[in-house]
Amino acid sequence: MLKRDEWLPLARKLDWDYSYVSEKDVFPEVASGRPWLPHKEWKNWDEPYRTSYTEYVVNQHAKDASVYAVRDAVGRLSDFQRLASPWLNALKLHAAALPLAEFAATVGNLRAGRFGRDSAWRTMATFGALDELRHTQIPLMVMHELVRWDPQFDWTHKFYHSDDWVAIAARHFFDELLTAADAIELAVGTNFVFETGFTNLQFVGLSALADQVGDHMFEKMVTSIQTDEARHAQIGQAVLENVIKHDRKYAQYLLDKWFWRSWLLFAIVTGFSMDYFTPLEKRSCSFKEFMEEWIVDQYLRSLQELGMEKPWYWDTFLESLELYHHMVYISAYTYRSTVWFNFVVPSPEERAWLRDRYPKHWDQIDAAWDRVIDRWRASKPGDEASVHGQAMVTFCDLCQLVLCGGTPSRNTATTLDYGGRKYIFCSEPCLWIFGREPERYSGHKELVKRVLSAEAPAALPELLTRYFRLTPETWGKDAYGGDYPWLQRPAAGEIG
Ligand code: MN
Ligand code: MN
Repeated sequence: MLKRDEWLPLARKLDWDYSYVSEKDVFPEVASGRPWLPHKEWKNWDEPYRTSYTEYVVNQHAKDASVYAVRDAVGRLSDFQRLASPWLNALKLHAAALPLAEFAATVGNLRAGRFGRDSAWRTMATFGALDELRHTQIPLMVMHELVRWDPQFDWTHKFYHSDDWVAIAARHFFDELLTAADAIELAVGTNFVFETGFTNLQFVGLSALADQVGDHMFEKMVTSIQTDEARHAQIGQAVLENVIKHDRKYAQYLLDKWFWRSWLLFAIVTGFSMDYFTPLEKRSCSFKEFMEEWIVDQYLRSLQELGMEKPWYWDTFLESLELYHHMVYISAYTYRSTVWFNFVVPSPEERAWLRDRYPKHWDQIDAAWDRVIDRWRASKPGDEASVHGQAMVTFCDLCQLVLCGGTPSRNTATTLDYGGRKYIFCSEPCLWIFGREPERYSGHKELVKRVLSAEAPAALPELLTRYFRLTPETWGKDAYGGDYPWLQRPAAGEIG
């Protein structure tokens, strides 16, 4: 009988020579990616997590069974109702951002399962597609329980079907990364940068955080997903090594583009959760410290091992570690009715904690919170409209997020004239990415251009309900209606 080592290559390496079509017809560059190389350059493709279909099915079945067991034990509505109110918003943010992006990853992996250049790669990508389908279904199943309690959880499924500004940005990112990318860009952008560089480690951090706040269902879900990611992310380095060998410059470009794009989205989803939605007594480190320890060090080490450079914008990135998620958070707080989850004003103790961890620019962010708090003091609890922005804000033509680069006093927004149109970017790296592939990005309209061309309504109430698909029930509010124990309001008679 054959041993595993003897039969596994027979089940993984299934390529054959074509006799009546050319290899280029079977694997066109537009779908397979560049550099386009004959199969002999890919035939040694290998990754460390070799698995067979039988092993895959047995393992995945066991993982699913253990998720269901945890759900039976601690995944009931009453378990979620016990969680701290700010944390529920971290849950709503992740619940919406995650599952349908995972489904887009199913599509991306199926394309790689067809157009990847070696059969072992295609096999791994096929398992990856099955993984991502599981990552779609688990959060949909877990969060469904909560919809009857809190309609904001309905956005778990609704989010990507809306034209909410966060959904526009997230789709712009995931559509390019997962459904538009060829097999090589998918492997480098998704498997290497996004999964190995960010989500794999993020899941480790998030599950620890969920454990601390007592959210054991979320912890289990994330841990279970992470074990799949750790396996299929291995596709990335195996592909990247060959791209580096044949076209180092292009490899560097893909790495730098996807690191920046991933960073912006990651800063919002994870930055908000760690520095604002986790109760202070449960925090073990700041988002910046987490990034430095888990993402920055490891990513730089893996680049070094591959003989690649760190991104040219590294100083800009390090500066944005101090600032970016704080800038987006306070901006989004001021426009909270435009999203599907609630916000909290950081308490005096939380602000002291943040000052301690972000000494470089916290003064400026802190001053902005003082203004928010003054406005709450001057208005009645629950009077959301009087502590809310009214004017339309501007969005970046690359990342589609609010222009939040730099500090409150020095925004790093920058413009470009291209094809008779004026484009605006939140940062130098966003401008640089656009400039490298203008034909890919220039046709897309960010939210303000949609309003100006009457595709989207200009008045905020109509924009929220008709375009963003929010309702007074679901749109974001201050989680406490501005009624904080530390926010001393003047007695009723004193409000002028
Ligand atoms: Mn996934
Ligand atoms: Mn994945």
